Amino acid sequence: MATIITAECINCGACEPECPNNAITEGEEIYVIDPNLCTECVGFHGQEACAAVCPVDCCIPDTNNVETEELLLERAKKIHPDKQIPALTELSPSTSRFRKAAAG
Ligand code: SF4
Ligand code: SF4
Repeated sequence: MATIITAECINCGACEPECPNNAITEGEEIYVIDPNLCTECVGFHGQEACAAVCPVDCCIPDTNNVETEELLLERAKKIHPDKQIPALTELSPSTSRFRKAAAG
């Protein structure tokens, strides 16, 4: 489930540098997220970094594009072949939003 930016975006630019995958760019009208680069921050952060900094809460899950933690992790590995990304079994509440409930 890639994260998407809604029309509420005020083009503040705060989210762009926070994305570990450089998935966010300034679009013609609002900032946009490339779904092929978004991993919902799996492998890097325990929550979506863009959503965490957005002042108007317009970075939201795309419910029309639901993806598994495993798929998102594989994407992160492909994007960063040079980096040490945790294995699926090593993901924790600080490196995957999917682990929050389990940690509860
Ligand atoms: S959820 Fe994470 S990976 Fe996806 S666009 Fe936002 S900051 Fe980037
Ligand atoms: S932080 Fe939110 S309002 Fe600012 S550019 Fe990103 S999506 Fe738009």
